[in-house]
Amino acid sequence: MVGSWCLVAARPFHGALLSGGSRAARQALLAAAGACPLPCRSALQNRRMLPLMIGLVMGAFIGSFLGVIIHRLPQGMSIVRPPSHCGDCGTVLRWYDNVPIFGWLALRGRCRWCGARIPLSVLTVELVTALATGLICWWVFTHPAELTAPLGIVLADWVHLPWLAPVLAALALLVAMWALIVSTFTDLEHLIIPDELSKPLQLLAPFLALLLVGSMAEASYLLIFYVQSQTLADGAVVAMWTIGGGSLLIAGVVVLVCVLLLASLPFARWVYGTRIRGPFPWREEDHRAFAKGLWWFVIALQPALLLLLLSAWWSDPVEGPDLPLFLVLGLSHALLGSLVGWCLPYAVGLFGTWAFGRNAMGYGDVKMLAWMGAFLGPMGVLFTFFLAAIYGSLIGIPMRLCGGGREIPFGPYLVAGAITAFLFHGWLQDMLFAGFA
Ligand SMILES: [Zn+2]
Repeated sequence: MVGSWCLVAARPFHGALLSGGSRAARQALLAAAGACPLPCRSALQNRRMLPLMIGLVMGAFIGSFLGVIIHRLPQGMSIVRPPSHCGDCGTVLRWYDNVPIFGWLALRGRCRWCGARIPLSVLTVELVTALATGLICWWVFTHPAELTAPLGIVLADWVHLPWLAPVLAALALLVAMWALIVSTFTDLEHLIIPDELSKPLQLLAPFLALLLVGSMAEASYLLIFYVQSQTLADGAVVAMWTIGGGSLLIAGVVVLVCVLLLASLPFARWVYGTRIRGPFPWREEDHRAFAKGLWWFVIALQPALLLLLLSAWWSDPVEGPDLPLFLVLGLSHALLGSLVGWCLPYAVGLFGTWAFGRNAMGYGDVKMLAWMGAFLGPMGVLFTFFLAAIYGSLIGIPMRLCGGGREIPFGPYLVAGAITAFLFHGWLQDMLFAGFA
């Protein structure tokens, strides 16, 4: 019931978007395409394929750049200078060898000058980025109502550019996807998830998530806090609006959890300092770096918290559902998701270390799940974490039993879990809670 209210409220925005005055222009374009003798005709006529093709090409070039970041960032090298060159003989690549995907295939994975191997991961990153970017562009532009959020539609309306709303939704999803690709491959290659990526995203993700309707529809469970329904004497149900009270409650929870996290630092120092044995003990500088990361996370949440309170104050519930209410729902969802995203792996790491005497969770994973949580929400984070554990045991345990290969880091499993949770959270939730309905 509550969920359907949220979706119904979002519909007028989408109606306005889809009935934008471009139909005549679209028909003229299709008519022109009909007269074109080239094979581009069918692709243009089938407008669904156009975003896919643009996304594939754009994604291949971006994948080539992500490959440079994956290779250079963990080594502290500049990502712009020097230009792409062979790691062995140092020859700068010709432009045609640098063309994504085809460059690697044409050279069959070897340097043109000295024959040194170009790693297969270069090709893999370009292919994965091209495919992911193409599919996201296709999804957003062919099913705009599933992903375009009220905030994007209001912004698009404001500047009179109807295509801006799906573009913003696509950008938000793409930024997250590209960050996940870099995190996965740096973790596989260097056993590190770069802070340079996780820290800015902890600040930005709550705002990026506002551009995706997926998180809004998901956030409908939060209406329990914001809307209290009451049955009148004649049986009619009216909504009692308590947006200000609900926002203050959520903001209070966020602040309380932040204070508790900071207060847990001495306990973490004691657990890691005394329990970890072996060749890699927990040193004082490890603790200082971790404390700094936690302080950054707490500070990074504050702009979203401020906007939540401002939106609650700005919302006018008498007028019915409005943009500030969507901001309140979306930001609450993102803030709670971020907090669960930090707290869950942090708590598992602390108690795992205390119980087993070895470092049970990398802090790169904690920092990454914190920003992913803003997109996934608290329930999505729980699904992500448990799916990652299942994937980890399905793949990791047989690999260790066979004795081959090194230990795979947890980051890639978390990324796989997050993508599954993002795509199938509705289905997972229905399956889990079917018994309670
Ligand atoms: Zn070479």
